[in-house]
Amino acid sequence: MGTGTPRVAYFCMEFGLHEKLHIYAGGLGILAGDILKAAHDTGQPMVGVGILWRQDYTEQFIDEYDRPYDSYHEYRYDFLEDTGVIVTVPIRDEQVRVKVWKCTAFGNAPLYLLDTYLPDNLAWNLTGQLYGWFEEERIAQEMILGIGGVRALQALGIDVDIYHFNDSHAVFAGVELIRQQMTKDVPFTDALLSVKQHIVFTTHTPVPAGNEAHSHRILEYMNSYDGLSCDQIVQLGGDPFSMTAAGLRLSKRTNAVSQLHGHTAREMWKLIPGGIDILTITNGVHNGTWQDDSIRKAHSSEGDVWAAHSALKRAMIDDIERRNGVRLDENVLTIGFARRATPYKRSDLIFSNREIIGDLLRNHRIQIVLSGKAHPNDMGGKATITNLVRIAREYPGSVVFLQGYDMAIGKMLTRGCDVWLNNPVRPMEASGTSGMKAAMNGVLNLSTLDGWWPEACDHGVNGWQFSGGYQGGDCDSVDVASLYQVLTGEVIPTYENRREAWVGMMHASIEMAQWRFSAARMLQDYYQRMYA
Ligand SMILES: *Cc1c(COP(=O)(O)O)cnc(C)c1O
Repeated sequence: MGTGTPRVAYFCMEFGLHEKLHIYAGGLGILAGDILKAAHDTGQPMVGVGILWRQDYTEQFIDEYDRPYDSYHEYRYDFLEDTGVIVTVPIRDEQVRVKVWKCTAFGNAPLYLLDTYLPDNLAWNLTGQLYGWFEEERIAQEMILGIGGVRALQALGIDVDIYHFNDSHAVFAGVELIRQQMTKDVPFTDALLSVKQHIVFTTHTPVPAGNEAHSHRILEYMNSYDGLSCDQIVQLGGDPFSMTAAGLRLSKRTNAVSQLHGHTAREMWKLIPGGIDILTITNGVHNGTWQDDSIRKAHSSEGDVWAAHSALKRAMIDDIERRNGVRLDENVLTIGFARRATPYKRSDLIFSNREIIGDLLRNHRIQIVLSGKAHPNDMGGKATITNLVRIAREYPGSVVFLQGYDMAIGKMLTRGCDVWLNNPVRPMEASGTSGMKAAMNGVLNLSTLDGWWPEACDHGVNGWQFSGGYQGGDCDSVDVASLYQVLTGEVIPTYENRREAWVGMMHASIEMAQWRFSAARMLQDYYQRMYA
């Protein structure tokens, strides 16, 4: 490794830099995009390596039966730079050619994007849909990211001290680095030891089932061993091949993304070497992207944050009217909830007791803005979205559902709502970052004590928690009872009768979030604790 600041290549399956670059699905990608922006802000020598998903994750609309359906375009971008570099990755029995693009369009450290849409590829559409299709395509995509990514950096002449795998999709990069050592007659064990010094790994999924595993039969068929033997690949990832276990064994350090997730991850991976040493670096978001300037200025200069907030709330209400034809009331406490529709996030929890919530909505004590996509193959998530759309119709003018959740909607809601609701089943949310965006805009979090929130929450001071960290059976009814209690007993009365106290909480929320939960702080931690 050279002297000075380590040169980092940050590998991720998705990057959320801007809504106009359709290569992200959700939180993982936003985190990656925010890291590259923070690196650019501070001039750190980092590059990103990702995939140019030609057809996006999914663009999701609601049909006339209230059902979400997926729509795919083939995107072309005039703001990407053609590097002229093409590398090959052997997948099945084809040498797949992979073109390399460069993106610096969004105030980000350079992002290199891999693309198989070339006329002479048989498997030309592997870089089509992010998280799309089936296991074989997923493995092929991971080989493109990992093996193709390493080869691309080398062909571009970019020297790398640290390969950072953001989640386990990139582990084949480690396999490729080992293979390259072994071609120089270094034995496997020594190659692994030396490669490890240059790899760090961030794990994200706190549930065993969420961690990808592949059978060796398919890996072998896909040609994923990349010249290593079955036995060597088993040494890395086990049998079946666990991507996360391989990430742990390939890296010198691994981190989890919140304190609570650190505990969960160490418990989950304690039997894998390195598992009990998983560090914690809590996520952060890029202030320049997610915090509105008017709020930052009003907060730092003892200006009028309420006036700044009210303007953002009106702008959101205007935008919602343009999108949905529904005009919300700017004087009513507005609760936002925008998330991937997946069971543990419980998008419809707040509607559990229609008597209670119906009264609050009909009497204009609260209004609710919802958004979210379900994974294209997730029928349960899609049913949840249908439920939300139907609920919105039952309370016209008080509940809206916005289709096509993306960074633009995320930005608007985490600036314009009054309260940001979050109710995952504890401890299944590794971190969650939309709440950080909300917090730094003075949008007050109302959340179960999951993900990042236990580290940040000062109840009644900078936001609220409910159900006190309850974990166990019947958590839906425990959580919703507590949610209603805090909502009606504390949140609504403060909003309606104690405006000064509310504004005080907004300041406390901004103060708590704008450094501690910034991408700049996160990147500093990565340099000090992972890359050094
Ligand atoms: C911030 C963001 C996310 C991640 O937020 P969570 O709180 O982790 O759900 C997902 N999607 C979009 C569009 C975002 O802006």
